[in-house]
Amino acid sequence: MAVPKDNLERTTPLMGAGSVLRLIRDTEGMTRSDLARVTGLARSTVAQRVDALLAHELVYEGRASASTGGRPPILLTFNHRAGVVLVADLGATHSRLAASDLAGTPLAEEAFDLDIAAGPERVLQMVHEHFIALLAALDRSANDVRGIGVGVPGPVAFHLGQPVKPPIMPGWNGFSIPDWFASRYDAPVLVDNDVNIMALGEHWANWRGTDHLMFIKVGTGIGCGIVAGGMIHRGAQGAAGDIGHIRLAAHGETLCRCGNAGCLEAVAGGEALAHRLAEAGLDAANSRDVVRLVRAGDATAVRMVREAGRLIGEVLAGCVNFFNPGVIVIGGDVGQTTDVLAGAREVTIQRSLPLATGDLDIVASRLGDRAGVVGAAIMVIEHVLAPEAVDKVVQGAAA
Ligand SMILES: [Zn+2]
Repeated sequence: MAVPKDNLERTTPLMGAGSVLRLIRDTEGMTRSDLARVTGLARSTVAQRVDALLAHELVYEGRASASTGGRPPILLTFNHRAGVVLVADLGATHSRLAASDLAGTPLAEEAFDLDIAAGPERVLQMVHEHFIALLAALDRSANDVRGIGVGVPGPVAFHLGQPVKPPIMPGWNGFSIPDWFASRYDAPVLVDNDVNIMALGEHWANWRGTDHLMFIKVGTGIGCGIVAGGMIHRGAQGAAGDIGHIRLAAHGETLCRCGNAGCLEAVAGGEALAHRLAEAGLDAANSRDVVRLVRAGDATAVRMVREAGRLIGEVLAGCVNFFNPGVIVIGGDVGQTTDVLAGAREVTIQRSLPLATGDLDIVASRLGDRAGVVGAAIMVIEHVLAPEAVDKVVQGAAA
């Protein structure tokens, strides 16, 4: 649908360098004439915007390959090497860190054991030391860092970058993660719940054409990240998607760490499964042991995990009827076993309304362990390269 001319005239003066960069980022390269045609801006204005972006090395010029003979036009291409973003996906017991370019491509990654319960000072100091090592490996310095993204296993007040009463993160309640990094890097720091960044990563990498997505993480606990209308939906208090504490009526006697009984997580989460396998005499202390037993073909573990998948499916069926997602992506270490996926798929399809499941995909996470770092990088990049943010940088330098 064409934009009415009236609207175009009213909006084009607002199309600053940041909006022009947005257009260039979405393509393999554009000429100045392309930009004038697409934006409706005068050629002289396009030239100003492009000069500002060139001055900040956010775009570079190159010649397109000549296909029809003659002088090939000059293409403007996004310079994804104009800085790096540092990201940390912090789990309860293990973490993954990455340094990415401004297109979200990871340049260096590292995974290691890290106990989130050691508290913010010790954990963030360790993260910082690993960040420095990643930068050194890339021959980059703290000055090249354009933004930092952190995912944590608990609820987060997103606008403050502070965990809010996180059940498994003692010492972190109200701790400002951006403030901690402020003296070490001159870059914005964004913090979100780990499942939200996984949802964002999976959506960006594999489901960009799907507006409504649910990402279910089945690890030690069970959580859900929601992409609604292409955006992360956090809810009023950052607690949206906490499906692990939805009650299963048939399991009302099982106590949950949240204080209630019969929660999905208390019955079908990795920790609960490990506990029950240990009671059955098997060597299982955590979710990774559950996965190991399932992969080894242990019949008790396979049966238990498939049943957990069905229970997850019961809760998902309610979510599907309520939210009508285009895709449900299942991740987390336990979630990535085919048995959980099979159980969840079976019951979700069985119990949801046919209209809501007509085009519904229920799939395993393709990014796997890396969904969090990919999503955290995208969260930061979309923030620092948002048109308003770029305009500010460009104007700040001009002033
Ligand atoms: Zn609970």
